[in-house]
Amino acid sequence: MKLKIGCISGDGIGPEIVREAKKVLDAVTAKYGHEISYTEILMGGASIDVHGVPLTPEAVQAAKESDAVLMGSIGGDANTSPWYKLPPDRRPEAGLLAIRKELGLFANLRPAVLYEELADACPLKKETSEEGFDLLIMRELTGGLYFGERRTTVENGLRTAVDTLVYNENEIRRIAIRAFDIARKRRGKVTSVDKANVLDSSRLWRAVVNEVAADYPDVELSHMLVDNCAMQLVKDPAQFDVILTENMFGDILSDEASMVTGSIGMLASASLNDTKFGLYEPSHGSAPDIAGKNIANPIATILSAAMMLRYSFDLDREADDIERAVKQVLKEGFRTVDIMPEGGAASCRKCSCSEMGDLNAERI
Ligand code: NAD
Repeated sequence: MKLKIGCISGDGIGPEIVREAKKVLDAVTAKYGHEISYTEILMGGASIDVHGVPLTPEAVQAAKESDAVLMGSIGGDANTSPWYKLPPDRRPEAGLLAIRKELGLFANLRPAVLYEELADACPLKKETSEEGFDLLIMRELTGGLYFGERRTTVENGLRTAVDTLVYNENEIRRIAIRAFDIARKRRGKVTSVDKANVLDSSRLWRAVVNEVAADYPDVELSHMLVDNCAMQLVKDPAQFDVILTENMFGDILSDEASMVTGSIGMLASASLNDTKFGLYEPSHGSAPDIAGKNIANPIATILSAAMMLRYSFDLDREADDIERAVKQVLKEGFRTVDIMPEGGAASCRKCSCSEMGDLNAERI
């Protein structure tokens, strides 16, 4: 298979972690005889430095001509970087918002996995963390409260603010289909999260999800209220496979789910549109505090590359190989500084960003 990848290395630790993910992608594509090519795309601060803007039309075109985009992270230190003296629409983050819009990315996937070897970083009770968990939050990204009409007025002398939460059935259907398709690649379970006891938008959400479920008899569907889901994520995260939810609930629940893993450098993410195209990036930022030191953890980016193979190219065997390599390297005790146990356990060996990339590539 030919894989045409757009690469946004970005800012801060971005270039370091993308370099390591490419090593692993090169190893797995060589193993299975695929042909991979990379087109470097400038975005964020790196684009401001060259073009004066965080995203050019040429960069958008290059992304659209790729089968998928692998990204590091963009942005700098808001207190010291000159990028943050620019007007808000010229700052690094504006590039990310613009490219998401240009590419029609409406589905955000955030896996939260607790690895046995990193269970000590999990803030949950030992009996909960010992079991481990592997869940994926699928959040609608372009509708709902964050995109509805809003206004602040004074009514009868009182300052009054209104935000509107709007979803139409097509917006719900397309993300539900994505969630059921992805559940088929995992453990075949979807938990749809809403607030159907109060909100009309949630009642429509539930009805449309039920309609979509009729086409997926092999996938088990359940519904859960968002307040209960927030509790269940800390009480028993192992019960979940795919959590499907709207924009704001997903924003909050995905941060909660990532915190319970306890390891920011391990969390991958993907944003998909209604084709096979996706933008794959770690959940963390550009970590300017450690940029250029070769100590960043590249695993979130390596796992994002695995998601890219699985969801944009249907290369499940290749994705499995990468995920297995990550588990193996952790099992052998290799740790970047961010996941090194406090006091440094005797069984663990500290490694750099580039060593972590090499170790994973070697185990493919
Ligand atoms: P951050 O995620 O970059 O860093 C938070 C802390 O986690 C820092 O101490 C950092 O050193 C550490 N960290 C993060 N990733 C790590 C890794 N892979 N290995 C080891 N340690 C890691 O969050 P922040 O400091 O709030 O943001 C820094 C910049 O990143 C800002 O400009 C922000 O706007 C940007 N940002 C970009 C994205 C994106 O590109 N999607 C997402 C979040 C933040």
